[in-house]
Amino acid sequence: MEWKNKADVVIVGGGILGIATAYYLAKFGRRDVAVIEKGTVCEGSTGRCGAGIRAQWGTEMNCRLGMAALEIFEQLDDELGMQTGLNQGGYLLVAYTERELENLKKSMALQNSLGIKSRAVSLREAREICPALDASDAAGFMCHARDGHADPFLTTFAYLEAARRLGVSYFRKTEATGVTVKRGKAVGVDTSRGHIDADAVINCAGARAQDVAKMAGIDLPNWAEPHEIMITEPIEPGVCPPMLMSFSGNYYIQQRPHGSIICGASPKGHPRSFSLNVTSQFLTHMSAVLSKVLPATKGIRAVRHWCGLYDMTPDGSPIIGETDVKNFYHSTGYSGHGFMLGPIAGKLLAQHLVGAKPDIDFSMLDYRRFARGELIVEPNIT
Ligand SMILES: Cc1cc2nc3c(=O)[nH]c(=O)nc-3n(C[C@H](O)[C@H](O)[C@H](O)COP(=O)(O)OP(=O)(O)OC[C@H]3O[C@@H](n4cnc5c(N)ncnc54)[C@H](O)[C@@H]3O)c2cc1C
Repeated sequence: MEWKNKADVVIVGGGILGIATAYYLAKFGRRDVAVIEKGTVCEGSTGRCGAGIRAQWGTEMNCRLGMAALEIFEQLDDELGMQTGLNQGGYLLVAYTERELENLKKSMALQNSLGIKSRAVSLREAREICPALDASDAAGFMCHARDGHADPFLTTFAYLEAARRLGVSYFRKTEATGVTVKRGKAVGVDTSRGHIDADAVINCAGARAQDVAKMAGIDLPNWAEPHEIMITEPIEPGVCPPMLMSFSGNYYIQQRPHGSIICGASPKGHPRSFSLNVTSQFLTHMSAVLSKVLPATKGIRAVRHWCGLYDMTPDGSPIIGETDVKNFYHSTGYSGHGFMLGPIAGKLLAQHLVGAKPDIDFSMLDYRRFARGELIVEPNIT
């Protein structure tokens, strides 16, 4: 695409957050939007993720965001005119201790109070939801039938094509190298292709968001955490219809429509690093978990194994909104749930930028909450 040197809004980062935000800005009438991506579409965490979508959260804010995200996903194919691969097989949460089960029940009470129809299910019912499940050692299960997963590539491309149709420019292989701030206002971005003037700049740089924030003189408390994930050869479809997840068991597992299993786990000790290396420890852990929880997978081969970065914040909740630099916004820190929150977060920030009332008041996700000590700690993550 031919370079331009002025846009109304410049978005740094072309993952699900940057592209969905661009789409909603254009949809709401602010069409002169340029997305600057140093690599290519789905280059970052979006193209490396497990793509689970759930409303079963432990903070009111995440419950509201998760439910609103589901509502968007449920009509997204029609809205964007392309498939997103949504599969609503539910999220089946497995608790291995009574304490974990109690915590999940507390979260369920919160979810139910907000209209999310999650519920405790018995082992027998868990087996009806996930026929190949072996979890007789579990203390209990929770399920929300509307949860599930989608395809991160299809979803991001669908947003990108719809955004382009509305006039959004997408510059790939273009790295933002500086944010120009004049008299306390962001007025443009320096890039590897030249300078671009802007009336507003949005930082959607994922695990590199703190670097982009620094370009505008802002310190973010975010850090990058590598997470490994793998895909197996296909087995008979129907082995694992839901997204199967356990915080204490340290796994999430889903089956693709053609039968392959995608599964991941959190790294021991949660190291902070930008490394995308993969380890044999992960393969050992993951294959032991798979063959225990889904014995039908015993002996199948892993065909690919990769690593992506969680963009972490001190409370595991995202940072969305204005900054001390006028017209410079953050939409970052989505840790392990930015794929599902991308559509709703993009919509909310776009509503704010066009002066409309956001569907959900997200002002508490302001980055200054860390300095104020008002953390929004999400318990339902690994
Ligand atoms: C293994 C794994 C499993 C996951 N599972 C799930 C899940 O089940 N459900 C879920 O909701 N989420 C999941 N996530 C989290 C999810 O992937 C992320 O939260 C989400 O993709 C973040 O989107 P983003 O657009 O902010 O970041 P990214 O997709 O990383 O996009 C940011 C983009 O910014 C670009 N960029 C950075 N710096 C610059 C610069 N200076 N100039 C130009 N471009 C720049 C990068 O190249 C990148 O493409 C998972 C993540 C991983 C790693």
